[in-house]
Amino acid sequence: MDFRLTPQQELFKRTVREFAEKNIAPRSREIDQKAQGIPEEIMQGMVDLGLFGVTIPEEYGGTANPGEELVYAMIAVHEIGRAELSMSLPVYYLLNLGWSYLLARYGTEETKREVLPHVAKGEWFLGIATTEPSGGSDLANLKTTATKKDGKYVINGEKIFVSGVSEATKRGGGHLTLFKTAPELGNKGMTFAYVPTQSAGITTTLFDDMGRMGLSTGGMAYKNVEIPERYVLDKEGRGFYINMEGFNAARILVCAACTGGAERALEISAEYTKQRVLFGQPLAKFEGISFEIADDYAKLQMLMNQLTKSAWMIDQYYQDPTSFTRKEINANVAICKLTAPLLTLDIAKHAMMYHGALGYSKETPLEMLMRGVMSYVVGAEGGANIMRIIIGREFIGDVSIPYK
Ligand SMILES: Cc1cc2nc3c(=O)[nH]c(=O)nc-3n(C[C@H](O)[C@H](O)[C@H](O)COP(=O)(O)OP(=O)(O)OC[C@H]3O[C@@H](n4cnc5c(N)ncnc54)[C@H](O)[C@@H]3O)c2cc1C
Repeated sequence: MDFRLTPQQELFKRTVREFAEKNIAPRSREIDQKAQGIPEEIMQGMVDLGLFGVTIPEEYGGTANPGEELVYAMIAVHEIGRAELSMSLPVYYLLNLGWSYLLARYGTEETKREVLPHVAKGEWFLGIATTEPSGGSDLANLKTTATKKDGKYVINGEKIFVSGVSEATKRGGGHLTLFKTAPELGNKGMTFAYVPTQSAGITTTLFDDMGRMGLSTGGMAYKNVEIPERYVLDKEGRGFYINMEGFNAARILVCAACTGGAERALEISAEYTKQRVLFGQPLAKFEGISFEIADDYAKLQMLMNQLTKSAWMIDQYYQDPTSFTRKEINANVAICKLTAPLLTLDIAKHAMMYHGALGYSKETPLEMLMRGVMSYVVGAEGGANIMRIIIGREFIGDVSIPYK
């Protein structure tokens, strides 16, 4: 057993941190305030470092280290999250990495060649579209359907609250999309496929979010949208299960964005409370403050250990499917996703309180973090109660009552 990052992983972490502190952190407020997306110079700098390719194999233009993709992605997203506290860039970035990781595993050869090189070059956006007006938590009940016609799928329905709708419309790319191909079969009648957002028959709308202002959230209505069969991941009828597998990787990266933001907020708290003098001593000398910082720090360290382990487990699983069961992975990832958004929200709130009135202003980046992380508290990539359901199911077991 070895809990250390390898020297290569350490070097990678340092490189991303240096880049992010120099080029991203100073522009976080601008990204949030302008609400016009991520500046191209930042995107290009990340591309030059190979950051968009860490979950994409070399043969598709990526920079992946086979068997360590998700660990590298976790490291990178954590560092980007530390630097860009509005969470616009971290979320933009993690969606691309997380869903490329899945496409690289379950996409057809042609689709991988068509999509992944553009994602690795930072040109296209790749996201996920599952949520519908009928509810994002209860995916078995979604209404979007597709029928097969002349070797194509024809999709009709609607998705809402989808990240990156504007970005994929403008830049190219699309969303891995869940729909029903055999509604009567429930979960077994669902299919998951790449759908380019520029496809004929898609109309988009935009929501006015409270945070992550540099990244759009929108809706997509599908009217007879045709996609070729080759865009299906794995095969027809396996969509629900493949989608859930993808959520595990995506949730790891969501948590990495949270831990990055939380770590920076704790540092801001430590810096501020050391220099703010009240009642004749630095705030940090009051145990009412320092104990809370210590508690938050301890919780964050435990979460980061759990997160590293979970990312590593998924990488192991794809190397050797007998290494861990899906149940073990589901429960470990759900523990991270249950904890990370709520802990980050607490840490941001505490940091704002140590700053007094200053914390309520835009002089610190803390309020951006609070607005950004709320997207994950309310439910993006699965709400806290859904994580509790997963953990309870894996730990307690099946609790359905055998009715007589
Ligand atoms: C900023 C933002 C970006 C998003 N990006 C995307 C995206 O890119 N792609 C995408 O597909 N979706 C996206 N979503 C949607 C997100 O996945 C959903 O918000 C989430 O799945 C919850 O669905 P819902 O909002 O319909 O809430 P509901 O499903 O209506 O749930 C409402 C609340 O009830 C809780 N709940 C649900 N079931 C139970 C239960 N059995 N017991 C107890 N509590 C329960 C939920 O946890 C939630 O808190 C995004 C959301 C936000 C806010």
